[in-house]
Amino acid sequence: MITIALSKGRIFEETLPLLNAAGITTPEAPESSRKLILPTNRADVRLIIVRASDVPTYVQYGAADIGVAGKDVLNEHGGIGLYQPLDLNIARCRMMVAVRDDFDYESAVRQGARLRVATKYVQTARDHFAAKGVHVDLIKLYGSMELAPLVGLSDAIVDLVSSGNTLKANHLKAVEHIADISSRLVVNQAALKLKHDLIQPMLDAFALAIKK
Ligand code: ATP
Ligand code: MG
Repeated sequence: MITIALSKGRIFEETLPLLNAAGITTPEAPESSRKLILPTNRADVRLIIVRASDVPTYVQYGAADIGVAGKDVLNEHGGIGLYQPLDLNIARCRMMVAVRDDFDYESAVRQGARLRVATKYVQTARDHFAAKGVHVDLIKLYGSMELAPLVGLSDAIVDLVSSGNTLKANHLKAVEHIADISSRLVVNQAALKLKHDLIQPMLDAFALAIKK
């Protein structure tokens, strides 16, 4: 049995064509089903639906053999115990630093000011500002980072940006690009060895189906 961990929403939707290319189809969609374990057309393959940020944990501990997780999530998790053979080139966006329209970020950095940074991506933010030699106080949030600079919780945020429309609608501007983000296939290292005959053909089919 191969267990594949996916999150609802864009990851599920964008992974589905890749699963189909590997000959795997699902009779039920997670959006309409309340089931957390979904069967597939193959008796030896099932899907589990977990929170996006929990995918690496399920795969790390072997509760799932394979998963799909954003590079943002993998950076925060650290990637311990995970083999990352493929960039699936889906759920593409950018990790950015953003501030209020009227905030002079360049001068604040130049003057060596201590910045308050609100983010869900604490590890990514810590690494980024440490590499730049900028002193920051990090404030952990779980969502809607855009609100933080508007109400004085922070000077800056570190968040994912795709179109930039949410930033614009909230009078924020992106001031630094930290990384390009896409989702990766992650595989439990022990499962790759023990279930190689089942997993390797799937990896090969995914690799062929990835859109460049
Ligand atoms: P949760 O809703 O459980 O807090 P989440 O917001 O991280 O989790 P999604 O919004 O489904 O869950 O995001 C899943 C992944 O998709 C993210 O980890 C990221 O890699 C990518 N992603 C997030 N926002 C965007 C976006 N606007 N455009 C493209 N990809 C995105
Ligand atoms: Mg989201």
